[in-house]
Parts: sequence; structure tokens; C-alpha cells
Amino acid sequence: MEFLDEELENYVKNHCTPENEVLKELNRETNLKVLQPRMLSGHLQGRVLSMFSKMIQPKRILEIGTYTGYSAICMAEGLSENGELHSIDINEELHEFCKKYIEKAGFQNQIRLYVGDAIDIIPQIKQDWDLVFIDADKENYSNYYQLLIDKLPSGAFIIADNVLWSGKVINDYKKLDEETKALVDFNKMVQNDARVENVLFPVRDGLMVIRKI
Ligand code: SAH
Ligand code: CA
Repeated sequence: MEFLDEELENYVKNHCTPENEVLKELNRETNLKVLQPRMLSGHLQGRVLSMFSKMIQPKRILEIGTYTGYSAICMAEGLSENGELHSIDINEELHEFCKKYIEKAGFQNQIRLYVGDAIDIIPQIKQDWDLVFIDADKENYSNYYQLLIDKLPSGAFIIADNVLWSGKVINDYKKLDEETKALVDFNKMVQNDARVENVLFPVRDGLMVIRKI
């Protein structure tokens, strides 16, 4: 489901900086060779993540859900000097593919990849994150948030992707599948959490942008 009609969506994309050659190629090769290419952030969301990152100028970014590295590269564009992005994915089959593009994009010294379950890996990386991007298994969004929120410095941001889940979050809760329920629960928890302020951006599939007070 698209939230904007096609013509307006195209107009929006035509008024965003285009993807550079590396991201274009990464997008293309993901679509040709990798399962579920719809998971890749893509042109519009990639530029949004890059722009947010450039506004925040983070020193430490944590990404949960690397997939083929598209969003990692976009967010790395905003890292401050000596900044690092750490990204976790459970699927080791994507590791070499990701590495290739991270090198092509010139971020091999700034992006660190971890293969494994994010629930186990997050507590092992001790950093003061300035920006966290949650984009892995939807059932664990609330768990990832709870693992991190107390330890984040004040002023840190969390961005959670796919929080509108093709619009399914507004359907009758009792009839929802587990993934949608988890996203509804997550959105509600954030909304009621006095430790943070938050804005739900209806960009692509919904970005919840959260700032720790
Ligand atoms: N951030 C990427 C897309 C991520 S797709 C982009 O925007 O381009 C979601 C990814 O989460 C998949 O690659 C999947 O392997 C990973 N994933 C799912 N469950 C996970 C878990 N428990 N721990 C770490 N990664 C997980
Ligand atoms: Ca996503």
C-alpha cells in the first residue's frame, strides 16, 4: 500500500536528491539477487535517513537490521568526524554482499557489522548511542527499545521503521497478526512513555522518530 498516489509520490521523489551511483547499484542488485527486496529503505526513505543523520551529526549510530546495507550507508553519510555506525543482522548470508557495498561507498572504516540475534548482541556493545535505527523483526521492537532506552544519553534519537505496517495498525486489534500487534503495542508504549518525545512521520511505511528527554 502506498500512502500517496503514484503521481504525487513521483513528484516527491523528483524533489529529493537522487540516489548516488553506489546506492543505485545496491538497490538494483538487491532487487535482482536478494529475497524480499521490498525491505530495502529505497530512494525516498534513504534520503530522509541521510538528512536526519546529517542534522544530528551522530558520533555513534546503532542499526538493528542491516539487510543489504542500504540504510546503514545512508545514515553513515551524517556521521561526525571519527563517528561509527554499528549494525546488527541475524542473516549471515547477506554479510559479504553488505561488505562489498560498504567498501564501494567508502565506509569500511566507519561501519561495523555484527552477525547474530540483536537481542544478544545489543547488550554486548557498550556505546553512548546518539542515534538508533530499529528495523529488524517487528515482534521485538519493544524489547529493543526497553534494552536501550534507560542507557541512552538525554537528547539521543531512536527511529523505528515500518510503524504503520501498510496501514494495518488501525485495524481491529483482536483480528491482527502477531507482527501488527507488536507494532501497535510498540507505538502505544512510545506514546505513553514520559521519558521521550516522539513524532510519527508518515514517510513510506511510517517512521517513528523518538527523542530521549
Ligand atoms: N535496514 C534495512 C532493512 C532491514 S530488513 C534497510 O532499510 O535497507 C530487516 C532485517 O532484520 C533482515 O535483514 C533480517 O535478517 C533482520 N533481522 C530479523 N530478525 C533479527 C534479529 N532477531 N536480530 C538481528 N537482525 C534481525
Ligand atoms: Ca524497514
